[in-house]
Amino acid sequence: MSDTRTTDGRLEKSDAEWRKELTPMQYAVLREKATERPFSGEYEHEHRAGTYICAGCGQTLFESDAKFDSGCGWPSFTQPALESHVDEERDISHGMVRTEVLCSKCNGHLGHVFEDGPGPTGLRYCINSAALKLQPK
Ligand SMILES: [Zn+2]
Repeated sequence: MSDTRTTDGRLEKSDAEWRKELTPMQYAVLREKATERPFSGEYEHEHRAGTYICAGCGQTLFESDAKFDSGCGWPSFTQPALESHVDEERDISHGMVRTEVLCSKCNGHLGHVFEDGPGPTGLRYCINSAALKLQPK
């Protein structure tokens, strides 16, 4: 844990330390902003009740209550568990204008948010399974 620094509640680690702690898939998504193949992630069809935490730092990100079947191939949520636990940034990579969703604690890449969701928020948080860990209730 010698490389771990916390500033303003944020968690900072060296790339070497992240590589050691994360699986290659988790590292690719969280630290290199990779996107797992659609319909491949372990939580896409997950229906157990529980809390989804960040695979990088353990911060609470989404509640299973907000999860819905979007058919897009990734776990989808209508809202984060706490607004302050996710950061949103404009992403213009791959020739698209999208809003990137990041963990506010470790700055890990989670996925993107789109404005075509159901319900009161109208939002669809499209999140990589590899960025999440479910803690079943
Ligand atoms: Zn995190």
